[in-house]
Amino acid sequence: MSLSGGTYGRPAATDGASRGLADGLFMCCDCGAELEEFACCTACGRSFALRDGRPALFPEQPRDAVWRIPVAAFDPGAIPKDRAYRYPERSGQEASGVYHLDRAHEDVLNGLPKGSLVLEIGCGGGQMRKWVKDRGLDYLGTDVSVERVHDWLAQHGGPDILCDAHALPIRSNSVDAVYAVAVWEHLAFPQLAAQEVRRVLKPGGYFLGSASFLEPWHDESYYHMTPNGTHMTLQLAGLDVLFIWPEVNWPGFRAMLVMGNKATRPVAWLGRLMNRFYLFPKQMQFFLGNRRWPGLDDLHTVRSTMAGAIAWIARKSAPAHGSEASA
Ligand SMILES: [Zn+2]
Repeated sequence: MSLSGGTYGRPAATDGASRGLADGLFMCCDCGAELEEFACCTACGRSFALRDGRPALFPEQPRDAVWRIPVAAFDPGAIPKDRAYRYPERSGQEASGVYHLDRAHEDVLNGLPKGSLVLEIGCGGGQMRKWVKDRGLDYLGTDVSVERVHDWLAQHGGPDILCDAHALPIRSNSVDAVYAVAVWEHLAFPQLAAQEVRRVLKPGGYFLGSASFLEPWHDESYYHMTPNGTHMTLQLAGLDVLFIWPEVNWPGFRAMLVMGNKATRPVAWLGRLMNRFYLFPKQMQFFLGNRRWPGLDDLHTVRSTMAGAIAWIARKSAPAHGSEASA
């Protein structure tokens, strides 16, 4: 099945990079030509080093990022809250599940045809690899280095290749799903990276992600994202927003204590308590007004206001055959 790859042989951890190379998945991040080997680009002569046993496909040349922004996109009234800001059918992380994996993302991945390619950006320890491959899907894990990961996750093999999310060395229209969880707050130009996601996705492909909102500043994070910021980031990248929801078991009160320091961590239960205090009057208000206890969607905005992290599912439009309606 797997092919041993190019000049450097297979990366230390996996064969994902080698298979991608054989499939023509990679491109030179400087000139855009298809990469036939990891050692260098035959088109522009650019050579690439190995770092920690993996191809390090970072651009060297500066490039212009041209951005055409529809002014109307900045009208907050244009964000359809009732359509975009809602919980998927299932959401939340299972305590026994893969680190960070949300049920809603799981459901999308489970629905992909066998052999679909899942590109993970910011894969950390590569803990998703086994889960994805066990479902008959192909997996390519990327990160900026092998070091930005909890020690206890390092056993999973790490990234297949190293690259920059703002300049993915991946050919356009080649990926079935991009998965990037707890990553987007770490990007210096989140909208630019979202455009890269759209570029590499096949039409109809999914972007599954999440980002910090009220979590503390951590691991050199740049931009923590509100629900509106999330929507705008996805929309400006030309993606269709299907769902944006606050991670329900991760209220900001708790996130701040868990991620605070050694003194705050043991009292993280206080965060749950404060969240209950915060929700209760809103729940009662809803109950009195509607004669039923609110479901998740009913208090979406209330939970979003204090969420530790925001998750999303977006999609690259499938090509419309003659009409906009089928998009
Ligand atoms: Zn090149």
